Amino acid sequence: MDSNKFKQCLEVNKINIKSYWDWTFHNDMCIICRGNIYDTSESYIVVGQCNHAFHYECINNWIRTRKNCPLCNQLWIYKKN
Ligand SMILES: [Zn+2]
Ligand SMILES: [Zn+2]
Repeated sequence: MDSNKFKQCLEVNKINIKSYWDWTFHNDMCIICRGNIYDTSESYIVVGQCNHAFHYECINNWIRTRKNCPLCNQLWIYKKN
């Protein structure tokens, strides 16, 4: 006597939709010079309140003409660690 038990395990895995606001200085590219953010041979990385990172040289030139973050258009404020 063999008992074939067909368990229909329909496990519906709930997909955890991670809120992908992982902007915590997660832009790999400096959008101003379109270069790698980690390529900081001559400059260093600065992060704003909006958690966008840029080269210091780049954002410094940028905010001479406008006061907003080039990525999200928020008012650019340097983040203090
Ligand atoms: Zn740059
Ligand atoms: Zn921003």
